[in-house]
Amino acid sequence: MALVNENFLKLPGSYLFSDIAKKVNSFKVTHPKQDIIRLGIGDVTRPLPEACLEAMHKAVNDLSKAETFRGYGPEQGYDFLIEAIIKNDYAPRGIHFSNSEVFVNDGAKSDTGNIGDILRHDNSVGVTDPIYPVYIDSNVMSGRAGELDIESGKWSNITYMPCTSENNFIPQIPDKRIDIVYLCYPNNPTGTTLTKAELKKWVDYALENDTLILFDAAYEAYIQEDDVPHSIYEIKGARKCAIEFRSFSKTAGFTGVRCGYTVVPKELTASTITGERVELNKLWNRRQSTKFNGTSYITQRAAEAIYTPEGKKQIKENIDYYMTNAGIMKEALESSGLTVYGGVNAPYLWIKTPNNMSSWKFFDQLLYEANIVGTPGVGFGPSGEGYLRLTAFGERENCIEAMRRIKNWL
Ligand code: PLP
Repeated sequence: MALVNENFLKLPGSYLFSDIAKKVNSFKVTHPKQDIIRLGIGDVTRPLPEACLEAMHKAVNDLSKAETFRGYGPEQGYDFLIEAIIKNDYAPRGIHFSNSEVFVNDGAKSDTGNIGDILRHDNSVGVTDPIYPVYIDSNVMSGRAGELDIESGKWSNITYMPCTSENNFIPQIPDKRIDIVYLCYPNNPTGTTLTKAELKKWVDYALENDTLILFDAAYEAYIQEDDVPHSIYEIKGARKCAIEFRSFSKTAGFTGVRCGYTVVPKELTASTITGERVELNKLWNRRQSTKFNGTSYITQRAAEAIYTPEGKKQIKENIDYYMTNAGIMKEALESSGLTVYGGVNAPYLWIKTPNNMSSWKFFDQLLYEANIVGTPGVGFGPSGEGYLRLTAFGERENCIEAMRRIKNWL
């Protein structure tokens, strides 16, 4: 008899976005003529940069000839891409890595979800709240999260660090030690960031407490302000306590192409139960070589093209497009009387619901009265209650029309 991993049964039956889809579908059935604008799911709408497309076409041609054909590649990624990453994303900030410290993947979701494979099931875990749900759900699957308390919406073995308007979305450093802490900056869903000084407090905490920081920088390319760190490794000592996840999804419109990377510095170690220090780089390399067969050659060539002068220019144009959307939306929402956070260094706007309405009630009203789909903040964690997320990834006309509708409605 095969026994299931019962931790999976602890997870709520449906995912946030399928609950939203059900609500939108029932609205469409009852209001077939209404035109809905979707600003809920964090997917991009601009086509791939021309430089990436050209590189993909060329890579397809490489595969068509025996002399240039590529079969299985290195599980860790091709050196041509790893070198471009190190040279462009890190070296200009004074951060130096060897090729074996960077692992190319098929997107940050896989690695943020799988990193727990190399960590014991009984580590304590801390998350900022609200948060990208993958961090928690992957810990539920491995048995690390404990039990769900239905009333509070919290898992018993997870420490939640609230990020709300009361603390200006800056998580308080815990007063106890935690083994693993997830940080995501610029943040999904709140769109807020930490300054270098604030992030340094976390690195200092981690070094003092032997904590491992899992730092998700999927939205790094959207940072506009100077004092916001692009990488946790800008902070001294972070190589000894942090793994960083990056994604080309939002940087270059790769949500459908699938590529990102993870940095596991050689200096980073964690402990066995008997106190022996082990390099996490070695464990992650072993994990990847066993369970992952690499990202496709075509995809990695496309990612390499992001770092060419044309690629850089084209991705900047797309990011500017989305950030202009964010600016238009923020201004319109504020002039409609709403309180809005984020949208300055991230493509997410985090709206305080009016009159302390619940997230789902505001979601329903927005759908039924303005025909706009957002994402209820509470879907990202208990401290998201009373907020709603809108994304700036839509087409410009849709964003403008959505703002016009909200103004008329409020
Ligand atoms: N991390 C965060 C914070 C995200 O919001 C997302 C996607 O929305 C991901 C990771 C996943 O990105 P990818 O498409 O690279 O898997």
